[in-house]
Amino acid sequence: MAELRFSALKEVFGRVPLETTPPANNISKYFGIDVFNLHKMEHYLSTEAFSVIKRAINEGKSLTLKEADQVAIGLKAWALERGVTHYTHWFHPLTDGTAEKHDAFIDFGDSGHLVENFSGGLLVQSEPDASSFPSGGIRNTFEARGYTAWDVSSPMFIVGNTLCIPTIFVSYTGEALDYKAPLLKSLSELDKAAVDICQYFDKDVTKVVPTLGVEQEYFLVDEALYYARPDLALADRTLMGHTASRDQQLADNYFGSIPRRVLCFIKDFECEAHKLGIPVKTRHNEVAPNQFEAAPIFEEVNLAVDHNQLLMDIMKRVARKHKFRALFHEKPYAGINGSGKHNNWSLSTNTGVNLLSPGKNPRTNLQFLTFLVSVLKSVYESNEMIRASVMSESNSWRLGGHEAPPAIISVFLGTYLSKMLDDISKKVSDSKMSPEQKTELKLGIGKIPEILLDNTDRNRTSPFAFTGNKFEFRAVGSSANCSAAMIALNSAVAFQLRKFKKDVDLLISKGRGKDEAIFQVLKKSILESKKVRFEGDNYSAEWMKEAKKRGLCSVESVPESISKYLTPESKEVLLGGGIFSEKELHSRVEVEYEKFTKKVQIESRVLADLAINHIVPTGIKYMSSLIENIKGMKEIFPENEYQKLSEPEREAVTIISDHIINIKKMVFEMVEERKKANVIEDSYKKALAYEKNVKPYLNSIRQHIDKLELIVDDEIWPLPKYRELLFTR
Ligand code: ADP
Ligand code: MG
Repeated sequence: MAELRFSALKEVFGRVPLETTPPANNISKYFGIDVFNLHKMEHYLSTEAFSVIKRAINEGKSLTLKEADQVAIGLKAWALERGVTHYTHWFHPLTDGTAEKHDAFIDFGDSGHLVENFSGGLLVQSEPDASSFPSGGIRNTFEARGYTAWDVSSPMFIVGNTLCIPTIFVSYTGEALDYKAPLLKSLSELDKAAVDICQYFDKDVTKVVPTLGVEQEYFLVDEALYYARPDLALADRTLMGHTASRDQQLADNYFGSIPRRVLCFIKDFECEAHKLGIPVKTRHNEVAPNQFEAAPIFEEVNLAVDHNQLLMDIMKRVARKHKFRALFHEKPYAGINGSGKHNNWSLSTNTGVNLLSPGKNPRTNLQFLTFLVSVLKSVYESNEMIRASVMSESNSWRLGGHEAPPAIISVFLGTYLSKMLDDISKKVSDSKMSPEQKTELKLGIGKIPEILLDNTDRNRTSPFAFTGNKFEFRAVGSSANCSAAMIALNSAVAFQLRKFKKDVDLLISKGRGKDEAIFQVLKKSILESKKVRFEGDNYSAEWMKEAKKRGLCSVESVPESISKYLTPESKEVLLGGGIFSEKELHSRVEVEYEKFTKKVQIESRVLADLAINHIVPTGIKYMSSLIENIKGMKEIFPENEYQKLSEPEREAVTIISDHIINIKKMVFEMVEERKKANVIEDSYKKALAYEKNVKPYLNSIRQHIDKLELIVDDEIWPLPKYRELLFTR
């Protein structure tokens, strides 16, 4: 086995960066070339079809079959011109990836000849077999069909020779089986709730669109080394490996110069992304060695999510071309930074206003504060649900670890804004306010922009930080589909905005002026959500204690966190807002429990296999060579000298054999625990059993293996080591 490691290393050292020739033009010349965007629609569709589709996009209306037929004609013309042979309904099942099933455009024509065919019916709906996708019990085996329906709001695109049609995926009985359907519902809920609030301030606001900019972190590893690490290949993370003597201590990787071979890969995938209309803008080295980040310009949430999923696909594909593997797991290596997917989120109006950006006068700032405080209150009141949306088996290895936010969701506002909210809560009186009081308050909030410009103290340790004109939700895992986090956030904010409006309207009906009513509800919300605000170091031990005192939920158990989707508070938001039906919500939770159990199960199996079949034999082999040596010493040295000279080796034999005994014993116990957990029927209890009784072995077994790695002769160690995985490229 050690040969595999050494031949892999040899391969890596022989690699030459794969220079690819980017298009000779500036990015703007080929940006979106593979997307059927409005500009191309205008060119390829009849005037009538174009206006129909524009209306559908803007108003979320569906097309009639006749209208869809019209669109299909132009779409087919464009696609055939670009050499497209197949089409697929592209969707986001409840795995972390995307799904596609390709069909050729072909059909037999009237005269029996093969013709290229495509119709409105094929465009708007398809019926893939849903039986092999996670459904959490919704789909019965006798009703395996599901169907996909076109999402007009996300443009179609071409990958290779295939036209991809973004779709939602629902069961035959109408329940959502994907991320997109509830995401679209949450966006529409939030739109309506936010427009209603905006009406207090600006009658021209008729649409509010949540925006999202996703900073995607990832690791790269050479393909040859990846193949020599079965744990990376099967479980997406290293299940063993002693830390390298040097990793990120010197902080010399972050923003360092990007290695040439990596840059060739990045340029290549960025070019592909740009052709698909993904506005990738930023690239840089991250904190850990061989860790990087890619960030696009923000877009509407639905599109940004599609683009992020597509981007991960592109990166995986292009990485292979460059003999790399892109690792999106949250914690591929123990002991160094993990990867997140920072979700930068805001709200934008049809009038071009960012609702989370302080305005230029008291009026717009009152609007800004209304939205800011409503987000605060959402994160406070839906704290458990929001955390549930980011908890997963893979993210559990990252959260609370090196430079990663803990599993306590608090909000950072910055000292000035925080003080301003405290001021408001002090100055606003609950009784009717005098004109002087109101003027003073308005003068106070008129100053926000000035203050914010000075407010550069960004807290990098916060899981949910206000960063000047948006919130940055940093607890989201790098491998996740961000829809889950976005659904939770959008729904929670929509819920609070509705409550806010109800409270304000009630005060107005009691004779308060509009501004005064808003101030008073603001005050109430500020006081009620104060506990969620935290400006200090989220990584510190004191914060864990403090958060507990404040009653901020710090559940580290993944299944338990996920179960919080089902609390009365979460249900009020998710079911009340019409985002999920009761059945859908339960099925989703079920899917998450199962995912958790299966991931621990896979890791446990891979670890057991590697431990017993790779590591233990290697340990024994090295131990035997030591024993041979000790025997030889006994032959050639007089007894007293032999005792002294062979002592280190005799000691090593004891230590190695100790580790081997422990590894074998624990693997046996772990397998027994798995057997016990496997017979549990209830999926929640099963997940808890896996977490409590199986998962801890993953760390305790690796501790012995990692110690062995330090003792055993490097020449026979079978797996590429951390220093090789992290420092060769
Ligand atoms: P950082 O300092 O965290 O890297 P940046 O200013 O570079 O922050 O922005 C990070 C991400 O936030 C980018 O994807 C950017 O497009 C996005 N972003 C900026 N403004 C908004 C907004 N109004 N809504 C959503 N995302 C935004
Ligand atoms: Mg950021």
